[in-house]
Amino acid sequence: MTGPSRPAQSSFLSIVSPCHNEEDNIQQLCARSVDAAQELYGENFELILVNDGSTDGTWRRIIEESARRPQVRGVNLSRNYGHQLALTAGLSKARGDRILMLDADLQDPPELLPALSTALDGGADVAYGKRHHRAGETFFKKASAKLFYRIINTLSDTEIPRDTGDFRLVSRRALTDFLNMPERQRFVRGMIAWIGYEQVAVEYDRDARRAGDTKYTLGKMIRFATDAITSFSTAPIRVAALLSILAFCVAALSCAYVVYSLAAYQTSPGWASVLIAVSVFSGAQLLSTAIIGEYVGRLFTEIKNRPLYIISEETNAPETKKETDWDDIRDHVLQQPQMKSATS
Ligand code: UDP
Ligand code: MG
Repeated sequence: MTGPSRPAQSSFLSIVSPCHNEEDNIQQLCARSVDAAQELYGENFELILVNDGSTDGTWRRIIEESARRPQVRGVNLSRNYGHQLALTAGLSKARGDRILMLDADLQDPPELLPALSTALDGGADVAYGKRHHRAGETFFKKASAKLFYRIINTLSDTEIPRDTGDFRLVSRRALTDFLNMPERQRFVRGMIAWIGYEQVAVEYDRDARRAGDTKYTLGKMIRFATDAITSFSTAPIRVAALLSILAFCVAALSCAYVVYSLAAYQTSPGWASVLIAVSVFSGAQLLSTAIIGEYVGRLFTEIKNRPLYIISEETNAPETKKETDWDDIRDHVLQQPQMKSATS
């Protein structure tokens, strides 16, 4: 497909929700999402719930909901891969012309679907929910999110909209572009922003989590921010370069001082200047090594080229496409101009 997606009435919608220990939210999530989807898309929709290595009864609830509702598809990952990969797993299963990404804790209201759909009807490829007011989030969470967006937007060339999560309705072509990006450290909202096309914001008030606690611990938040910054910017490498220039200047001044004190006082150079030079150099080297090491580590993970995730089972999976059709491939090859002239 080349243009933005078809209008809502003739589109098929996929809703994708990553779930990690969300057993108390699954039922409500299904009920509210199905209601919202049915209103606009009739029966043309599917709800894909990805169980991301939950240790509670989430997968059991997903199985129950799949049995109750034919539109619900469950995807069970073999372990906990984290929010961004779980979301990617669900997105790669989506069959819709339009795809809605939704958190399982109902902080993103499915009822915003009509407003998001209108934006796509109007020709946009991406409509993202922009948080107007954030209920039930701590001061620390809000302040750290603000700082994070300030840093990433200063460092990166891709403008990543502030006050957004991954709550987005995207067209099929935007999703195809997203899935074609092979990187393993996946910062979904940044990657979608990078794709371009027309992207519009739809404001909403973010509710508090319906049940359970946030799955983003401080450690996970730091990991997420590091992934985002290093996969969208090489500016930290430039910090290392700047530091080495600074260290070089300090070293040059120290040398001048050493020579001067030797000439002026006929004394051996002071231990302080040695100490300064040593500490500046070792500090700069350590930091540079750490920053470069971060990127080398990333190269290492990319180069391993492992699958992003492994799915152990699925429910209500649609018929899989038939095996490779060699006749089709042969016909396609024979259609190529050089083959035509060779056979004629
Ligand atoms: N999530 C996930 N795997 C994880 C952590 C979170 O699939 O390892 C899901 C979680 O179930 C939820 C979404 O990602 O649907 C967002 O997580 P959460 O609500 O905890 O983040 P917050 O809203 O606090 O930023
Ligand atoms: Mg949440």
